[in-house]
Amino acid sequence: MKCRKCGNKASIHMRQHKLALCKEHYLDWIPEQTERFIKKYQMFARDEKILVAVSGGKDSLSLWDILARLGYQADGLYLALGIDEGINYSHESQRLSQKFADEHNLKLHVVDIEKEYGKNIPQLAVISHRGDGRPCAVCGLAKRHEMNRIARDLGYDALATGHNLDDEAAVLFGNTLNWLSEYILRQSPVLPASSDGLSRKVKPLCRFYEREMTAYAILRGIEYIYEECPFATGSQAILYKETLNQLETARPGAKLTFFLNFLEAKKSGNLFVEKNVEMQRLHSCPRCGQPTSAPELCSFCRMIQKAETISTM
Ligand code: SF4
Ligand code: ZN
Ligand code: ZN
Repeated sequence: MKCRKCGNKASIHMRQHKLALCKEHYLDWIPEQTERFIKKYQMFARDEKILVAVSGGKDSLSLWDILARLGYQADGLYLALGIDEGINYSHESQRLSQKFADEHNLKLHVVDIEKEYGKNIPQLAVISHRGDGRPCAVCGLAKRHEMNRIARDLGYDALATGHNLDDEAAVLFGNTLNWLSEYILRQSPVLPASSDGLSRKVKPLCRFYEREMTAYAILRGIEYIYEECPFATGSQAILYKETLNQLETARPGAKLTFFLNFLEAKKSGNLFVEKNVEMQRLHSCPRCGQPTSAPELCSFCRMIQKAETISTM
């Protein structure tokens, strides 16, 4: 497979875009596309200050890298959750986030939940009895709360997260399976700031597949934490991702179509709109008496009529 731009050996082939690129052109393509999405969804402007939520994983570090390469004023925020069961997850992800910031001369704010509130996430989860025994409900709540607090207190115009297409498609899939219409309607590449104090939230990577972000991080030489949080194992989100991956294997591009068609339908106001206009225009078919919206005979009777004419010919 050859790079479409220069003809050299391709490093990545994106079946859904029918596009293969070499390392050099791929590393240009990702920021170009990101810039296109930032503009298309009106995420933020050149003179605005962006706070990137950094977890030490490939997506958030790549996002930070891309925004910095594009020349945006992007600082990082790392939340130390205190999840160090087994693999030293928090410790290692903080080290890698700090290392990235230092190497790229970027500013990283660190908020340690335990230092700030006296307890870390697993401890807060035990105390609050929220959720299914995993600390995820508490963790999500704390992350949303703290990211918004820092973004507001430090005067950032937007809070950027590294959610990729696989994340977004899995969330949409889960919400659709359960018909959580309010959540479905709120899902968006950009959520505007609210007058009651929620900062603007943006997801510049929401149209990139997870494998595209992995390829970007590796080809850029970004050192990131490979392990997932130990509490992620067996979660619903992972089940939805696996299901969508099967679909994607059978139908390349399925995830992207699912997400983009959703955004289109939402934009045109076609989500959850009751359409009973047609119902009112129904009349009985003069031949069979069943309701139809066709001007004369119903479609079935027209088909039969046609069949009759042909058989008598
Ligand atoms: Fe927090 Fe880990 Fe759960 Fe993610 S998987 S919400 S990081 S506890
Ligand atoms: Zn090339
Ligand atoms: Zn509060």
